[in-house]
Amino acid sequence: MASLDDEDTKAAILDCHVCIVGAGIGGLMMGILLERADIKYTILEKHPFHNPLGSAICLEPSVQPLFRQLGLMDEIHRLSKPFGALVFREDNLNIIGTFSAQTPLDINDRYGGYNRIIARRDLCALLAAQIPKEKIKFGKRVLEVRQNAGEVIIRCSDNSVHHADILIGCDGAYSAVRQGLYADLSAKGELPKQDNAPMGYQYDCLVGVTDPMDPSKHPSLTGKFSEFQTILAKDANCSYWCIPLVGNRISWMVVKFHNKGKKYAEDQLFKHSGWGAEAAELMSYEFRELTTTYGCELGELMDNTAKGSMAKVMLEEKFYKTWYQGRVVLTGDAVHKVLPFGGQGANQCIHDVLALTNLLVQLKSNTVPDIEELFESYFKARSPIGRTVVNMSSRVGNLMNRKGMMNDIIRKVALRHMPRWLSQIINDRWSYDRPQLECIPFVKVPGEFQPRPQKRSAYVPASLLEREPSTTAATTTAE
Ligand SMILES: Cc1cc2nc3c(=O)[nH]c(=O)nc-3n(C[C@H](O)[C@H](O)[C@H](O)COP(=O)(O)OP(=O)(O)OC[C@H]3O[C@@H](n4cnc5c(N)ncnc54)[C@H](O)[C@@H]3O)c2cc1C
Repeated sequence: MASLDDEDTKAAILDCHVCIVGAGIGGLMMGILLERADIKYTILEKHPFHNPLGSAICLEPSVQPLFRQLGLMDEIHRLSKPFGALVFREDNLNIIGTFSAQTPLDINDRYGGYNRIIARRDLCALLAAQIPKEKIKFGKRVLEVRQNAGEVIIRCSDNSVHHADILIGCDGAYSAVRQGLYADLSAKGELPKQDNAPMGYQYDCLVGVTDPMDPSKHPSLTGKFSEFQTILAKDANCSYWCIPLVGNRISWMVVKFHNKGKKYAEDQLFKHSGWGAEAAELMSYEFRELTTTYGCELGELMDNTAKGSMAKVMLEEKFYKTWYQGRVVLTGDAVHKVLPFGGQGANQCIHDVLALTNLLVQLKSNTVPDIEELFESYFKARSPIGRTVVNMSSRVGNLMNRKGMMNDIIRKVALRHMPRWLSQIINDRWSYDRPQLECIPFVKVPGEFQPRPQKRSAYVPASLLEREPSTTAATTTAE
C-alpha cells in the first residue's frame, strides 16, 4: 500500500495519467474522485456537449455517504425528491399493490436517507460542474484503443490521439473500449465465449421529462415525496411510468415488450441504440392515448416535453466476464448492463468507480503487473454484485411487466403482503456497505443500521495535505 513516507510510491501515483472514456454518470464521478485523489486524468466524451436525454435516476442510501463526503448532498436534496412509493395499477387505474418507502419499513429511519429521485440531466450537470472544464474533452468519439507495456494509445473520430498510463472505459452498454479490448483478446483466443454472445434485448423504451407542469392542475406534483405511478397496459403490450420530479416536472417512460429472450448481434443492436430522438416521435404515436393518473392522457405529457429531448432506447441486459486486460479496465454499463427497473444502473457504476479509485491510490508502480493486480482486486470486489444486479433487474423487469396469471399472483403477493422482517433482510443486504473515498476524511453515516467499518487509506492527496494537515492521520473506521 502507498504510504506518505514512501516517496517513490507516492511519485508513481502522482505521475500516473488516467484517461476516462465517457462522461456519463460513471465517467463524471470517476473524474470527481480522481480530482479529489490528486490523480491526473482526462475525460473523452463522444457528444459535443452533455447529452440531456434520459429520464429519472434513483440514488439509493448506499451511495449517499459518498455524496455527503464530497459535499454534494445538499445539492442532491435541492435537485431531487425522496422516493415515497411505487403504485402499481391495471389499465383501468385500479391499484394492484403499492411498494412504499415508509411501510412496513421506514427506509430513512433505518438507512439514514430515502432513495433520491433526480432527473438524469440534473445529476450529470451537478457532477460535471465539479470537474475543471479543461479536463472534459467533448466531441471525442473513441474509435481505437491500443496498448503496449508502457502506455495506452487512444484514437478518436476527429483523428486526435491521446496517451495514458491507464484507460478506464465508462462508455456504457456499447462500449468502444470493451469492443477494442475484446477484439484483441478474441484474436488471441483468450475471450470467454459468453463475452462474445449478444446482449439480451426484451424491451423498447420511450422516455422524456416534461417542462414544468401547472401544479394547480396537477396538485400531486407539489408533494414532498416522489410517488411512482406504474400502469400495466395489457392490451397495449406495455407498461408506462410517471415519476414526479423537482420543479413540477414529470419523468415518463413507456416500456414495450418483445419476445422473451430475443437476441441480436451487438452490431445489429448498436445500429438502433444510442438514446436517439429520431425514432422517438414515431413510437410516441402508438401510446399517446394511454390514460395517466394526472387526469390527462400520456400525449399531454409528451406535448409538454421539449422537442428533441424525448428518446427511444432499447433496453438490454448482460453481465460480461472480462473486466480488464493490461492497462485497460471497464466499469458500469460496459460490464454489467442492467434494465432500469431495479434502479441500479447509476448506483452500481458509482460503486465501481469508487472501488477503483480506492485501489488506484494504492498503486505500487506504473507497470502492467502491478496495474493488473490492482484491476484483479477491483474485479473480485465488484463482479459478484455486478452479476447479481443483472439477474435481479431481469427478475424485477418480469415482475413489473410480464402478463400471465402467475405473474399477477406474484405481483399481488409481493406488493401487498411483504412483512417487515423480509423487507428488512432484503434492504439490509444492499446497505452493509455504504463506502466512501478512502483518501479524504470520512463523514458520519446516519441511520439505525450502520454499514460495515471501512479502512482509511494511508495515502492522502497532496492538495489535502496542503489544506488540512490534521487529516493526515489515518483512522481505521468511518466516524
Ligand atoms: C443518454 C442516456 C440517458 C439515460 N437515461 C437513463 C434514465 O433515465 N434512467 C436510468 O435508470 N438510466 C438511464 N441511463 C443509463 C444510466 O445512466 C446508466 O445505466 C448508468 O448511469 C451507468 O452509467 P455508465 O456511466 O456506465 O454509462 P452511461 O450512462 O451510458 O454513459 C456512457 C457515456 O459514454 C459516452 N460514450 C459512449 N461511447 C463512447 C465513445 N466511443 N467515445 C467517447 N464517449 C462515448 C456516452 O455518450 C455516455 O456519455 C441513461 C444513459 C444514457 C447514455
